[in-house]
Amino acid sequence: MTHEIAVIPGDGIGQEVTPAAVDVLEELDVHFEFVHGEAGDETQAETGDALPEETAAIAADADATLFGAAGETAADVILPLRSIVGSFANVRPARAYPGLDALQPDTDMVFIRENTEGVYSGIEDEITDGVRTLTRVITEDASEQIAEFGFEYAKRNDYDDITIAHKANVMRETDGLFLDVAERVGEQRSAEYDTALMDALAMHLAMTPEDYGVVICPNLAGDMLSDLAAGLVGGLGLLPSANIGEENALFEPVHGSAPDIAGEEVANPSAMILSAAMLLDHLDYPGEAAAVRTAVESVLDSGPKTPDLGGSASTTEMTDAIIDEL
Ligand code: ATP
Repeated sequence: MTHEIAVIPGDGIGQEVTPAAVDVLEELDVHFEFVHGEAGDETQAETGDALPEETAAIAADADATLFGAAGETAADVILPLRSIVGSFANVRPARAYPGLDALQPDTDMVFIRENTEGVYSGIEDEITDGVRTLTRVITEDASEQIAEFGFEYAKRNDYDDITIAHKANVMRETDGLFLDVAERVGEQRSAEYDTALMDALAMHLAMTPEDYGVVICPNLAGDMLSDLAAGLVGGLGLLPSANIGEENALFEPVHGSAPDIAGEEVANPSAMILSAAMLLDHLDYPGEAAAVRTAVESVLDSGPKTPDLGGSASTTEMTDAIIDEL
C-alpha cells in the first residue's frame, strides 16, 4: 500500500532538515509518495497567505505530514495545520543518547501535551489602550482525551512513572478541571500516577529527570517543560514530536526555524529525522522506525556531529552518515 506523505519544510532550518528526513525515508523499503507544500514567512510574503489553501489541502488529504518549522508566521501555520490533521495530542519524547555530553544522561521521558486549547486557543483581546487579555480554555472532553492517550501511551511503551502536571492551586477552575478529569481517568484505569504543580515539576525535572517517565500536561506547560527537557539531553536539535489525531497526524521537530543559524548548513537534522521515525511508527512500520532510530543513535554516539553537539559536520554530512548507517 502506498502512503501519501505531505512535506512542508516551512522557514529557516525547516528548509534544511526536512529534505534530510525525506532523504532518509527514501532509503527505506516503504511505499511513500511525497507531496510538497509551501508555508511560512516567505510564502506569506509571496502570496499574502502563510498557509495557502493548496498546502492545507495537501495536509488534509495525506496519510501523514512532515513539517519543518515556521518563523514569525508560526501561529498562522502550525496551529491551523494541527487542527487540519485533527491533532489532540502532541507527543514529545526527550531521551539522552550515549556518546553525547548531556546535562542529565539518565533522561528518558515523554511529554504528552494537550494540543487544542489552554492558552493557545487564540482568544485574545485588547480591552483598552494598554490592557490586553487572554482566555484560557480547558474542557472536560479535551482533558479526558489527552489523559486517556497519556495513560495508554505509558502502558504501550512500558513507562511506569506517570505524572499529571497542573497548577490547580492558582488556576482553580481551568486546571482544577484538567486535574480532576486526568485523575479520574487514572483511577478508572487502576493506574498508578503522581500529580505535580508544574512550576515545582520544572525544578524536579531538571534535577532528577530519572524519576519521570510519561508527563501529561496542559498545552503551554507541555511546550515549556519539553524545551527544558531538550536542554537536559543536549539541545533542541534532538527532540522530535508527533501531533496525533484520530485519523491523521503531523510530525515536526520540537525546535523552531532557528533564524540565528538558518542558511548556514549547520542545523542538526536529528530532531527532524527522529520525527520521521515517529511517522514510520504511526503508519505501522515499526521495523523501519527502529532502524532509523538505531542509525541516528549510532551517529550521535560515534559519527560526525553538527556544531550544537560539539562537532563540525554540516547538516548534509550528518544526514549522509545516518543514511550510511541505515
Ligand atoms: P519557536 O518559537 O518557533 O519554537 P524558538 O524561538 O524557540 O522557535 P528555535 O528555532 O527552536 O527557537 O531555536 C532555539 C535555539 O536552539 C536557537 O539558538 C537555535 O539555533 C537552536 N536550535 C534549534 N534547533 C536547532 C537544530 N536543529 N540544530 C542546531 N541548533 C538548533
